[in-house]
Amino acid sequence: MRALEKRYRTVHALRGVDLDIAEGEFFALLGPNGAGKTTLISLLAGLARPSAGSAAVMGHDVVRDYRLARRSLGVVPQELVYDAFFTVREMLRFQSGYYGLHRNDAWIDELLENLSLADKADAYTRTLSGGMKRRLLVAQALVHKPPVIVLDEPTAGVDVELRQSLWAFIRRLNREGHTILLTTHYLEEAEELCERVAMLKEGRIVALDRTVNLLRREDEQRLELVLS
Ligand code: ATP
Repeated sequence: MRALEKRYRTVHALRGVDLDIAEGEFFALLGPNGAGKTTLISLLAGLARPSAGSAAVMGHDVVRDYRLARRSLGVVPQELVYDAFFTVREMLRFQSGYYGLHRNDAWIDELLENLSLADKADAYTRTLSGGMKRRLLVAQALVHKPPVIVLDEPTAGVDVELRQSLWAFIRRLNREGHTILLTTHYLEEAEELCERVAMLKEGRIVALDRTVNLLRREDEQRLELVLS
């Protein structure tokens, strides 16, 4: 990302973001409500256009080559969006078809197994609990095995045990070479999982460091960065 900006009428959501995330990295974008995290993800996914500046995913410009950029990306969105008229498996097959993957059942089964949804494969999505819907969103984001996985506050509403198994799975994907970008409000989550952390505040990156270095900072200073 270079000098990336996004304005919505009166709101200046991103004010010149420069950021490079390396292939294979586990990176956290930390920031309070309204900092611009979701906006940044929308730009990467081609759901909104930058007002200025540029961004690329796996070398694909998010405006010029948005189809290729989007294909390189699997986004786990913050809101629970799902289609109530499909079963879990139908939903994942339908999405596989969108990506031209017509023999994807082995990977779908693996995803369902790893996300503790195997026994819900034939259940209608509307019958799932909130935590299950959230895990389905993770499966949907991964159905085309994207090299880059973006998780927008994925553990909201997921209980502690499932959170741990979700992170174990995401860590495994990272070890297998996937690049992970996680947004979170929680410094502890970023500390536990990520190699590097950027703090976004009012559309600007106010700190960018390796997580271990950030940990060495005084508690007060860290708190100030997160909350102020
Ligand atoms: P949260 O942690 O609460 O999800 P965030 O860091 O993801 O916050 P964004 O959702 O990117 O923040 O919002 C950044 C700013 O842009 C906010 O002031 C928000 O109100 C504004 N904003 C986001 N989307 C739109 C939109 N579609 N139209 C107008 N303003 C928007």
